[in-house]
Order: sequence, then C-alpha cells, then structure tokens
Amino acid sequence: MIEPLDEFYRRMTYRLNQLRQERSELEEILAFYDKVLAAQQQTQRETAIPEIDLSEERLRLKVEEGFPLLGRGDFRVDRDSSRELFQRICHLSMAENPVLAAAGKTLLEVMDTKKLDFVKLTTAVLENDTKAIEAVANDLGVAIPVVQALTKLSLQPFLLASVQAVAQRAAIDDWHYGYCPVCGGSPAMAALVGEEGKKEALCSFCGHFWQLPRLMCPFCGTDRQEDLRYFHGEGDDLYRVYVCEQCRGYLKVMDTREVGDVGTLAVEDVASGHLDLLAEEEGYERKAPRLWGI
Ligand SMILES: [Zn+2]
Ligand SMILES: [Zn+2]
Repeated sequence: MIEPLDEFYRRMTYRLNQLRQERSELEEILAFYDKVLAAQQQTQRETAIPEIDLSEERLRLKVEEGFPLLGRGDFRVDRDSSRELFQRICHLSMAENPVLAAAGKTLLEVMDTKKLDFVKLTTAVLENDTKAIEAVANDLGVAIPVVQALTKLSLQPFLLASVQAVAQRAAIDDWHYGYCPVCGGSPAMAALVGEEGKKEALCSFCGHFWQLPRLMCPFCGTDRQEDLRYFHGEGDDLYRVYVCEQCRGYLKVMDTREVGDVGTLAVEDVASGHLDLLAEEEGYERKAPRLWGI
C-alpha cells in the first residue's frame, strides 16, 4: 500500500460524504463517485509504485528546460488490473441513470466477447487521441464522454502510482508554468491557499498538485492584468471563476482559506459544475478535459 495515497482517498471520501449531506441535488453523481472511489482505492492498495527508468540527471534537465517529467507513454498501467477495475466500474454504472446503465451494460458485453480492444482504448485515453476514442464509442453506440470517463476512472490509480514514482525525485517545487510538471496536463481546478493568494492546481490528467504562477493565465500564459479577472457564482463565496480575455479560457478556483482542502479538488470540481455552465454561458471555454462529463 502507498500510504500518502491511502490518506488521499480517506480525505476524498470524507469530503464527498460531507457534500452529500449538504448538496442533495448532487446526490446521484456523488453517490456514484463514492462507489467508484472505493473501487479505485482497492486497486490502488494492490498497485505498487512502479520503477520508472529515468535517471536523476535526466529528470533534473527536464525540469530545467520546462519539460514535464513523464511523457504519456512513460506512465505504467497494469493492463490486467486496469481491465478489472474498468469492469467493476461498468458494473457500478449499471445501477445508475439510463445513459450510464446502458453504457455499462454494452461495455461489459463487448469486453466478454472481445469485441472491445481494451488496450487500444486505454492507449487512446492515455494519449488523448480523440479520434480513436470517438471511433470506439461510435462503433459501440456509447456516448463519447461516457466511454472516456469510465476508461479514465479505471486508469487513475496507475497514473497516481506513476506520479509517486517520480514527483519526489525531481526538484519541481519551483516549477513556474501553467502546465503540470509531471505530465504537462492543464489544471482541472485550483485552490487559493494561504494569505498570499497562492494557487495550487490539480492536474486534469495525472492528479498531481502544483503551484500555479501568479497573475498569469495558465492556459495561454498571458500576464496582461487587464485581460485577467474573476467572478463569483451568485451567493457563492467558496468558488471563483478566473477568466482570460486573451484565450477565453476559465479556471474554477476554490477558496480554501476558511474551509476545504486542496487535496479534494477532484470532488470540488464535480460539486461546482454549476460554475462550468455559468462560465460557458458567458462565452468562456473549459480548456482542461472534464472527467465527469457524464
Ligand atoms: Zn499531470
Ligand atoms: Zn489565457
């Protein structure tokens, strides 16, 4: 078992259950997430930190030149246990809303008949090869975001284990880019931490957390202050939406200075889905993939 990760799941589950008490309108998605999280945690406990063959010198050079530590092909995914987790998550989906239930059923059937090439699907999701994901989804008659989300959920424990394998070995504390130092992914969401207004981001791909550069759009890199601003949702002090007029991107940011926890941003991302709608209505675009577009 990887201890820091076990703690991560504990905190995620705690926050999830807190939100389930407070936000009855999110019960359906949060209850499903709770079950998925328990399945992921079990897989995580059975997953060792992999050996990733990159020398300290190579890692140091990458950081120096602003390259992420890992390419998508460097992540180690155990095909058998990711397949098992995928099947478990598909089973869980079958008890959910009609769209998820139908998708879960179809995916389980094609796994059995070997009509689905699972390795090809995981590779497509890892490499964010949208054409290949679309081809699989259309071939099976399952909605694209659902195929993508269920596959990504079954890969997450392995991505987290790979992050653990390298993040401690390189000096990435001073990383000053808008993309993730481990994988190069975009921030899914961020948290305001401490009185100096530091922003810690959650990577939309690998789940690593890093500190965003201040006063800069993480998506296009502009630091023209007149193009950067934020707004709150109505009657909502907990979350802010930072927008950029240059690239029209937006980033949801949770204010954790009084309540909340950076480590549970993945749950906050789901809980603040209303702000994604609001930002899109205002003409801004979510630049990072949304995991729970289902
Ligand atoms: Zn990352
Ligand atoms: Zn921008």
